[in-house]
Amino acid sequence: PIIFSIETSCDETAVAILKGRNTVLSNLVVSQIDIHKIFGGVVPEIAARKHLNYLNQLTNKAFEEANIKPEEISAIAVTYGPGLVGALLIGLNFAKGLALNLNKPLIGVNHLYGHIYANFIAFDDLEPPFLVLLVSGGHTMILHAKDYLHFEIIGQTIDDAAGEAFDKVARLLNLGYPGGPKIDKLAQNGKPIYDFPKPLYHKGYDFSFSGLKTALLYFTKKNDNYKIEDVAASFQKALIDTLIHKTMKAAKDLKVDKIIIAGGVAANSYLRKRIEDEKAKRKNMKIYFPPLNLCTDNALMIARAGYEKFIRNSFADLSLDAVPNLGLRDI
Ligand code: ATP
Ligand code: MG
Ligand code: FE
Repeated sequence: PIIFSIETSCDETAVAILKGRNTVLSNLVVSQIDIHKIFGGVVPEIAARKHLNYLNQLTNKAFEEANIKPEEISAIAVTYGPGLVGALLIGLNFAKGLALNLNKPLIGVNHLYGHIYANFIAFDDLEPPFLVLLVSGGHTMILHAKDYLHFEIIGQTIDDAAGEAFDKVARLLNLGYPGGPKIDKLAQNGKPIYDFPKPLYHKGYDFSFSGLKTALLYFTKKNDNYKIEDVAASFQKALIDTLIHKTMKAAKDLKVDKIIIAGGVAANSYLRKRIEDEKAKRKNMKIYFPPLNLCTDNALMIARAGYEKFIRNSFADLSLDAVPNLGLRDI
């Protein structure tokens, strides 16, 4: 099949065209970061309006690039949650319009499944069972995938998500939005010489990052002569250490030998380096993470997740609604 996909859950307007399991015909993302960074974070109304502005042009460009006619697609896959309701609705309504016009089936895709499925584009031989570390702007979870569509939640954050912690700490340090990439870059020139807390480190599989953020806030208030690069490196190490430790422990406890990392924080260079180290240490363990451009929000991952629903004839009707707080259980 050829699947056209749309992603507008937050501040990236994205469309893609995927042929079969992993032939990429087009993958376009317009980031709205330059507008939202003026406000220090995503402004929902602006995000929705920008999606509306960009979608038409982006769609035309995708078909041009793919060198196919809209009539040739097999289905339209669209993110229906989780995300900002106004932003989701723009993509959803655009998808419905296309589906009606072209008389093609509609597929509703859970954004979180999209992040996970990004790995399948790059690694075609990847098969369940596996463990997932999903680390994004709004989610931090360890999941156990026994088959392609059913994921058991092993652990999750009880407060901030990992990406959210990066963004909040970046704001504390006046680094701007989005914080993840800025801290990542700064940390490369710093040393992790400060001991920030690793909440819940030895306790089960759940995460908690708000205490780490507060500790950092007190640290910057109490001290003046620190190198901001060292603070960034120390924060990043405390957070990533915790992610790696819990994921490896879960893999060991559940006797799973395959791990998939997914979501925007999977773009973090220190996390990627640490995973390479783990891989080198454990020859019988396979660890995957998506190529950089498929870690943060994109529509190709939505097409790939849509493909799994397509081959199972799992279509939506035109009453499909946006679900801002869609959970992982809702496929
Ligand atoms: P969700 O997917 O949970 O609905 P989202 O779509 O907003 O949330 P993503 O697009 O997956 O989140 O990821 C964005 C997050 O990833 C932001 O919090 C951002 O700071 C973080 N991020 C991006 N690049 C990096 C990096 N290099 N290091 C650390 N964090 C990063
Ligand atoms: Mg984003
Ligand atoms: Fe996302």
